Amino acid sequence: MVGPDGALPLPWLAGPLAHALRTQQGHALLVHGPQGIGQFELALSLAQSWLCEQRTGDQACGHCASCHLVQARSHPDLLVLLPEALSEALGWSTDDTASDKASKAKPSKELKVEAIRAAVLFAQTTSARGRGKVVLVHPAERMNMISSNTLLKTLEEPPGAARFILSCGAPQDLLPTIRSRCQAVPLALPDAEVARQWLASHQVAQPEVLLAAAGGQPLEALAWSKDGLDAVTWTRLPRQLAAGEAGTLATWPLPRLLDAMHKLCHDAMCVACDAPPRYYPPAALPKAGSVAALNAWSKELGTVLRHAEHPWSGPLMVESLVLKARNALAPRAN
Ligand SMILES: [Zn+2]
Repeated sequence: MVGPDGALPLPWLAGPLAHALRTQQGHALLVHGPQGIGQFELALSLAQSWLCEQRTGDQACGHCASCHLVQARSHPDLLVLLPEALSEALGWSTDDTASDKASKAKPSKELKVEAIRAAVLFAQTTSARGRGKVVLVHPAERMNMISSNTLLKTLEEPPGAARFILSCGAPQDLLPTIRSRCQAVPLALPDAEVARQWLASHQVAQPEVLLAAAGGQPLEALAWSKDGLDAVTWTRLPRQLAAGEAGTLATWPLPRLLDAMHKLCHDAMCVACDAPPRYYPPAALPKAGSVAALNAWSKELGTVLRHAEHPWSGPLMVESLVLKARNALAPRAN
C-alpha cells in the first residue's frame, strides 16, 4: 500500500497501479500474475486509492485519515479476505484467527463460504466514511465451488457502492463466470534491474542469483533469503545433486526442494539443447545429461509434487529424490 511518504514499498507496482486506476471501470477487478511479485500489494493499493480522502490525481495520498486506517489495517470500509493460513504470514491476523490457533486446528488454506457470505453482507451495508466499500479477496483461486458461487451472485448483482478486487495467481482455476464479471488487471514480472536493486536494498547478497532462482519474482526471492537460502547455497545445488549428496537438503521443506529440482531439470534440459538456462547460473550447471533421462526425471518430480502435501517419511523421501537427481544428471555415455 502507499506509505505515509506517498511511495509504494514495491517500486515496480507504480506503473501498473497508475494504469489500473486510470482504466478502471465497473465494480470488480481481477489482479492476476505470478505469485511473488505483489498482486496482494497492488490490490491493497487500489483499495487504498479508492478510499483515500485526499487523493492526488487518482492515487492515494498516504497520509489522510482513511490512508492511516488502511495502513493500520482497521479501515471500516475495507474487508480483506484471506485464508487463515495466509493471514498471519501477511500480517492480517484477526482475533478470530488467533482463537483458531488456540484451538490447535490446522489453519485452513481455503477461503471458506462463511467468510464469503460475511463479505457479501459487508458489501451491502452503508459506507462508514462515505467513499464506498471495498472487498479484497486473495488469493481468489482458494475459493471452493460453494464460495465461488456465493461470490458470483454478488458480482452479478452488485450492491450499491461496493467494489471488489480479486487477486489471483492462477486465473484459469477461477470459474469462467467469475472471470467474465471482472475487469482484468494483468501484472507482469518486474524489470530485472529494478527488482535486483530492491533486493539489494533489503540486504540480499548476489540478488541477481536469487532473483533468477525465483523465476524473476522478487518477493519470493526475499522470502527465501529470509529463510536462510543464499546465493552460494543455490549455486552449489546442481553439482551437489549431480554428486548425489543430500547435505542440508534434508532440512528443506519438501515443496521447496521439489521446486529447486524442477528448475534444475529445466535448466539441464536447456543445457542439453544448447539453450541458455533460466534459474541457475550457467557455470553452476553440470555437463548435460541425456534428454531422455531428464524427461523421465521431470515426470517423476511431477508425480511427487502432486502428493507433496502428504506426510512422507522425510529423510527417506529426500534420499530417494537425491538419488533420482544424481541418475538423471549423470553425463551422457557417448
Ligand atoms: Zn489518503
